[in-house]
Amino acid sequence: MLEKVNLLGYSYESLKNFFKELNEPKFRAKQLLSWIHQKGVIDIDLMTDLNKNLRNKLKTIATIIPPKIHKEYVSEEGTKKYLIELATGSIVEMVLIPEKKRQTLCVSSQAGCALQCTFCATGAQGFDQNLESDEIIGQLWLANFKIGHNKPITNIVFMGMGEPLLNYEAVIEAIKIMKDQSSYGLSRKRITISTSGIVPNIKKLYKDVDVSLAISLHAPDDKLRNEIVPINNKYPIKTLIGACKNYLKSFENKRTLTIEYILIDEVNDSLEHAKDLAKLLTKLSCKINLIPFNSFNGSNYKRPSTAKMNVFKKYLIGKGFITTLRVTRGDAVDAACGQLVGDLSNSIKGKKLIKHKSI
Ligand code: SAH
Ligand code: SF4
Repeated sequence: MLEKVNLLGYSYESLKNFFKELNEPKFRAKQLLSWIHQKGVIDIDLMTDLNKNLRNKLKTIATIIPPKIHKEYVSEEGTKKYLIELATGSIVEMVLIPEKKRQTLCVSSQAGCALQCTFCATGAQGFDQNLESDEIIGQLWLANFKIGHNKPITNIVFMGMGEPLLNYEAVIEAIKIMKDQSSYGLSRKRITISTSGIVPNIKKLYKDVDVSLAISLHAPDDKLRNEIVPINNKYPIKTLIGACKNYLKSFENKRTLTIEYILIDEVNDSLEHAKDLAKLLTKLSCKINLIPFNSFNGSNYKRPSTAKMNVFKKYLIGKGFITTLRVTRGDAVDAACGQLVGDLSNSIKGKKLIKHKSI
């Protein structure tokens, strides 16, 4: 028997083709998107505007199954972190940051990561597998329809586990669903891909989808970046900045991108580094997001003092860059990259987590 397809991860385009094969009109695609992603209904029997014959046919060839929530953690600050179980049993993280005006969801695109950045808990775990598009969009579905909070997700960041641009097809398919007016209808400003710099895929990204881009730079020169973000050996800073400029140019209205820079004590946090960074970024339309290093079990790096981080920030602001330094809330989240799963396997819970429960 043929394996059933999981329609949760199908974009409008894919659903249209799927229904065409069944000799059904294309408006079925919109109906299905709306049931799944606007009403949160995944039981085909409840989809009353699909006739009974079609529903029966669908049930023999397709399923609509979200990934499972394995565990929930709630931090003191209200940030919620989830361990999500994939079809294979592998576990990834998802983080929900509730704020007054927005609800941001940090999603994973891979279980583990092959790129081994020296400051990253996910990198330390190595690569396990790519997520399917249903497992990526499934995180947003769970956050909107399964988790007990009454506000829909307004912003998505691909800052959980994995390198999104190394799971290109599935990530693009999931983003198409996020943006579609028949499903979540999120604008490009509300969806951010964070990448360590997979240059060939940054170059083709504009052809496939229009989203916000964040670059995990973390070092102002190739020598240091080769060391802490090893993919830089393959795609050095100059080619990366060039690809970013092209991405921005591909769209008519003015865009900026975000440069992420983790501050690690005695590694990349001196005033000299700040000066080099400012020089490097002068001609790039960007804002800078400084992230205090979050330590994890097995890492020797430290977070710089607040005073030192502020000197770094002030220098960049003085040079005209919009620069933010996250100190509390978002902190726990950006730094969540791979840390919960790592913690779980070491049976050590992060200190900010005050309660956890199985779902
Ligand atoms: N692979 C992508 C997206 C996932 S990482 C990327 O590298 O951009 C998401 C963000 O979390 C990146 O900016 C990453 O550098 C950051 N991050 C990873 N480990 C961290 C740590 N220990 N402390 C603070 N930020 C960290
Ligand atoms: Fe992978 Fe991003 Fe972690 Fe680097 S920072 S190891 S690219 S997940």
